[in-house]
Amino acid sequence: MPEAVLDHARATLTDGSEVITPFWHIDSGREGEALLVIAAQHGNEVQGCEAIRRFRAVCEEQLVAGEVWLVPFANLPAVRHRRSHISLGPEQPYGDDEGHNMNRTWPGRADGNDTERVAYSVHEAVVRHCSRCLDLHSWSRFTATAALAREEGLSQEMARVSGIRFIQWRPGTAPDAEFTTIGALFNNSGRGAITIELAPQWVIREKEVALGLRAATNLAKLFGMIEGEIEQLDGPYVEFGRHSEDEERRMHEVTAPCSGLFVEAGLETSDHVTEGQLLGHILRDDTLETVEIAAPVDGWLWGYGCHRENCDVALPPQHPYADEGDVLATVMAVS
Ligand SMILES: [Zn+2]
Repeated sequence: MPEAVLDHARATLTDGSEVITPFWHIDSGREGEALLVIAAQHGNEVQGCEAIRRFRAVCEEQLVAGEVWLVPFANLPAVRHRRSHISLGPEQPYGDDEGHNMNRTWPGRADGNDTERVAYSVHEAVVRHCSRCLDLHSWSRFTATAALAREEGLSQEMARVSGIRFIQWRPGTAPDAEFTTIGALFNNSGRGAITIELAPQWVIREKEVALGLRAATNLAKLFGMIEGEIEQLDGPYVEFGRHSEDEERRMHEVTAPCSGLFVEAGLETSDHVTEGQLLGHILRDDTLETVEIAAPVDGWLWGYGCHRENCDVALPPQHPYADEGDVLATVMAVS
């Protein structure tokens, strides 16, 4: 059986210090695809790291064709910084990246900023050898775990074996852009990639790690690298185009009819709900009345929980106190 070989990508930063990024390479010794599984491009998105650790063991036992490249800590300086990008301080949103959002820096640059240098080192040591990519991220707990893919070709095929309930179709970026996402780097060159957002950030949860591991294993099966049946979801994939008319029609936002404390009814994102089902209630902060909040349609919880902008980097936007009009849940109708 093939064994994982530990190797390192080395980047010299602007101050002359070195970042040494460890990765595993597992070669079956037989022809096939070269599958990259990469996690933690954003340093607070760490569920995929553990999924990769477990996928290594699966590959050591079951890889029969091709090779697997595993990068659990793509952005090691950001992991050590415990934030999305090395440039961010407390409560600063992802958008304040100042060029340090690793997922906008591929294929990196040897003489660029520190994040571009790390990306470049990983690209040279690993990414350029790979023909398929699974890029593991996380977003806030208020949005469902989702596969992000292009609605065409390999990317579409990959999303539909991911075993992730929600698939959000996204348009490609311009192929001539100097820097792009790692997914676009693959999809623009006919190699095939998907991203999976394992919600939430900041923590590692068994259920999400299992989803990441199943997705990686299913992709290896799709490409003939591991034998056996693809393990699909129970029930349908819930697919929609980001910002599409279809999304507009099927996405039902539930907002607070009054101010007060929103108390969730024990559901989770990705759960199925039926029209009229209790999603939670508001304890009003003026009359102390209880106001029940119900699902407006049958569907799947794309969003759940009272939150506001920047809930992925700061605590107050996660506070369950709702102003009138705050979003409490989003239900995606199946069709
Ligand atoms: Zn991310």
